[in-house]
Amino acid sequence: MSLWGIAVVSERRANPIARIVLALVWPMPLFADADLQPIYLDSPGSGFYSSASPHAPSSAGGNPGATLGEQRRWALEKALEFWGLRLDSGVPVEVEVAMAGDMFCNSTSAVLASAGARTIHANWSPAAGGSSPSFVDTWHGQALANRIANKDNSPGAADIGATFNRRIDESTSCLGSTVWYYALGDAPPGTVSFIKTALHEIAHGLNVQTYVDLASGQKLTTSGGTPLDDIYMMFLEDHSISKIWPNMTDSERQASATDTNDLHWVGPDVVAQLGSLSDGVSGGHVEMYAPSPLEGGSSVSHWDVDVDDLNGNSELMEPSATGSEKLTVTDEMLSDMGWNDVAANNCAAAADRLTLTSVLSGTNQHDACVSVTYDGAAVDSGATTATAGQQVILRNGFSVRLGASFRAGTDPATGL
Ligand SMILES: [Zn+2]
Repeated sequence: MSLWGIAVVSERRANPIARIVLALVWPMPLFADADLQPIYLDSPGSGFYSSASPHAPSSAGGNPGATLGEQRRWALEKALEFWGLRLDSGVPVEVEVAMAGDMFCNSTSAVLASAGARTIHANWSPAAGGSSPSFVDTWHGQALANRIANKDNSPGAADIGATFNRRIDESTSCLGSTVWYYALGDAPPGTVSFIKTALHEIAHGLNVQTYVDLASGQKLTTSGGTPLDDIYMMFLEDHSISKIWPNMTDSERQASATDTNDLHWVGPDVVAQLGSLSDGVSGGHVEMYAPSPLEGGSSVSHWDVDVDDLNGNSELMEPSATGSEKLTVTDEMLSDMGWNDVAANNCAAAADRLTLTSVLSGTNQHDACVSVTYDGAAVDSGATTATAGQQVILRNGFSVRLGASFRAGTDPATGL
């Protein structure tokens, strides 16, 4: 079933002032565990193929593109690489992208981008090495469905679609003189981080979205008219009535979507990380974004704006840019839904431990769940704690896989 235009999540973000880009980069080549592939839909000379001059701030920030289009593609592909290093899938993830000139924008706010799964799937038969869905009669976005099934459930269709607002670069009536920033690290004043926006949008396509019609509470139906649950709603709870969304009536779900502070994520991997949050937690769960009245395109498919880590940073998958976004529980949300079934405790159970030091330096580092392969064959795995200043030298043919529990500090060279 095609979802183009149906379940796309979009968001209206206030004009951010100071922005900090996410906290993970590898300063040496590694092998991605998922291969996210861009498919550019723009026409020659437009959007991702613009032949306009490169933006000076992005060039100064390290983007090597010789044209604006090259800068945009470089930035988009950085975001794809980032998720590729964090995710685990044997099936390439095809991401269709375009830049649109008709998205909402005025002098103070804009829809920066929108994204979602291109097709959704339920009740598949797995290929070798794959699995049937953990929940029957339950929609999954294609990228996630493919990952679990270990096959391409819709070979003729891309997995994710994402559209970015190019008026931000082109129109002074859109956020004034603010333009996109296409480089890594903090976006300078007067710019919006394209890479961080892309990271956020791709996550929606990884299934940080519900397919329920929030205005009515109705589930998305099959072509035959049968309403099905979706994998995201399996972990949505309304704490005031102690019910999860699959067990609600349509009207209960409709009410729950605007039940501020009582709409919660109850997935076990997220709940295990509650100690990493300083706000946005209640009743032993994490609060989801449920403003009243409903905000189409933003409600439910984001964490609540209150969610903060122990240093007061907000979460990447909140509805608005804050300038201090981190990934503290979003990895675990993805893990609850079936991405990266590699948890820290799984690693701790490994028979052999490899003493690995980290290529990362900085702060806020936690247990890293690491497995090491040589030419595709596992040679060791285990858990280690990364601390500042340590280094690992990887020889040709080796790659390191990071588990879902991994947290990285800021790399001082790039600010990521
Ligand atoms: Zn969003």
